[in-house]
Amino acid sequence: MDRETLNMILDTLDKFEKDWLSAEKKLELDKEGRFPEEIIRFMLSPEMALHLVFIPEEYGGLGAGASDIALISERMAKMDLAIATSFLGICLGMDPLRVGATEEQKEKFIRRIAEEGLIVAYCVTEPEAGSNVQAIRTKAERVYENGVLKGYKLNGTKQFITNGCVADMYTILARAPDGPSFFIAEKGEKGLITGRDEDKHGIRASNTCALSFEDLYVPKENLIGLKEGEGLKQANEVFGYTRLMVATFGLGAGTASLERVIKYSKERVQFGTKLSEKQGYTHRFIAPNAVKLEAARAYIEKVAKRIDKGEKDLHAEGSIAKYFSSEIADSIANDGIQALGGYGYMREYEVEKIKRDARILTIYEGTSEIQRNIISTFRMRDTVRSKGEFYSRMADSLEKIPEDTYGPALSKGIRILNELIKEIRKQKLSKEQHILFLLADIITWCEIADSLCHKAADGEDFIKAASRLFVKEAMEKLFVNGITIAYGCGKRLTVGDEIKKIDFSYLSKNYLEDMNLVSKTVLERI
Ligand SMILES: Cc1cc2nc3c(=O)[nH]c(=O)nc-3n(C[C@H](O)[C@H](O)[C@H](O)COP(=O)(O)OP(=O)(O)OC[C@H]3O[C@@H](n4cnc5c(N)ncnc54)[C@H](O)[C@@H]3O)c2cc1C
Repeated sequence: MDRETLNMILDTLDKFEKDWLSAEKKLELDKEGRFPEEIIRFMLSPEMALHLVFIPEEYGGLGAGASDIALISERMAKMDLAIATSFLGICLGMDPLRVGATEEQKEKFIRRIAEEGLIVAYCVTEPEAGSNVQAIRTKAERVYENGVLKGYKLNGTKQFITNGCVADMYTILARAPDGPSFFIAEKGEKGLITGRDEDKHGIRASNTCALSFEDLYVPKENLIGLKEGEGLKQANEVFGYTRLMVATFGLGAGTASLERVIKYSKERVQFGTKLSEKQGYTHRFIAPNAVKLEAARAYIEKVAKRIDKGEKDLHAEGSIAKYFSSEIADSIANDGIQALGGYGYMREYEVEKIKRDARILTIYEGTSEIQRNIISTFRMRDTVRSKGEFYSRMADSLEKIPEDTYGPALSKGIRILNELIKEIRKQKLSKEQHILFLLADIITWCEIADSLCHKAADGEDFIKAASRLFVKEAMEKLFVNGITIAYGCGKRLTVGDEIKKIDFSYLSKNYLEDMNLVSKTVLERI
């Protein structure tokens, strides 16, 4: 997408927020727990047509790349996470079609979503199958007429489906005789029964409900890809992409909270000066959170560029982005309440709503625990398959970037991580799930720090300071979790000696100066 079109869409969103989603309106929808169908329909109408951003050009969309989508998704989430979630539901629902449908099916269904502005729902989760999608029980039985396959009859229940009560089109994962497969059904079809809109903790203006299928008939042309047993593969294929979208939601929600904190700190006077002038405030609520958001942004930008270049196998990257960004959004939004004191606790000031909304990000599209499992499993596999070259290459490249990003210091940490992974495997500690989770945190922080260092290499003083602060944080994660693994698991790992040698006096030498710079820059920007 060209820069002009992208800016036009971002401007449209600014205008839309002003006209349709004032703070009062958002709070009212949140209080009522009401899905604003009229607002979503307007966003899908020819006047705004925001959904076209997510649709390939050949089927009537705008053909935006992952980098464009990342910016637009972040902007939507900054505006309101419930509205952004409705769009996520539409994208998720369309994704199995995008990756698995035949050309004819894409022409038929994706074009219709584009032209008619349909609300779509992605129906995978079931009461007994949440994190473990493979446990789905919804059945798709073949229906024959005169010995010829005519279609399928679906029976089962789905749980927590975004847009479930309001969708025009449903993408349903069901167990066909040859394995899990995605089917397309449409609103109002006999046997498609919607439950009540759930009363939720956050994103209360999004619609979430259970669905049940009682002999729901689906013609064979609506089996995505026209081949049974492809559903789990199709679901997995979209994760690198959709998890990145949720990561951008974390960026949007975290930024929305931090901006409110900054504005408050510039107005609120206590003990004779503004809160923004108190180091105990800025270095607690503003600088560390700004650094984390900068780090998440650097990683998301890098992964989006790789998707745009056509790279496919980005499963671990999608998980790292989603895990980090959703966890920091949750913690930044929590800080938002503390930073506004008693006002933060009142609904009127919005940070309380953002905190409740952001909570969903660590749950849907795979919980944080599932992401940690994926991250360590995939990176152990990458380390084995590449004979250690995966992280060696990363370390070599970091060694070459300017020292004032702390890239060379991180390079040493990455080499230690490489050894740690090899020893965990050798000592068969990979059977301990808790060890894998501790490892996943080291991997996540180190890989995110790697992206920030590279981005900072030719950046300004602010991003260099952010890079140094985040490398210190990543090395702390390596130290604390690494020592726990090396000495706390009943086996002595020799890599422990290397971990103990990490030079924190070097990593701390600019600490206060960098915190002051980050805080000053961020306060000036808003
Ligand atoms: C508001 C909302 C909207 C949603 N929208 C959709 C949608 O549109 N479509 C859809 O299909 N689904 C949707 N979901 C479902 C969502 O993806 C699931 O809730 C999520 O994947 C977790 O599944 P679960 O709720 O069954 O929890 P469970 O899988 O039961 O998990 C419970 C806890 O156990 C942990 N856990 C699970 N397995 C492991 C393990 N192996 N190791 C360690 N810990 C583990 C989890 O991390 C979690 O903390 C939505 C959910 C919500 C709340």
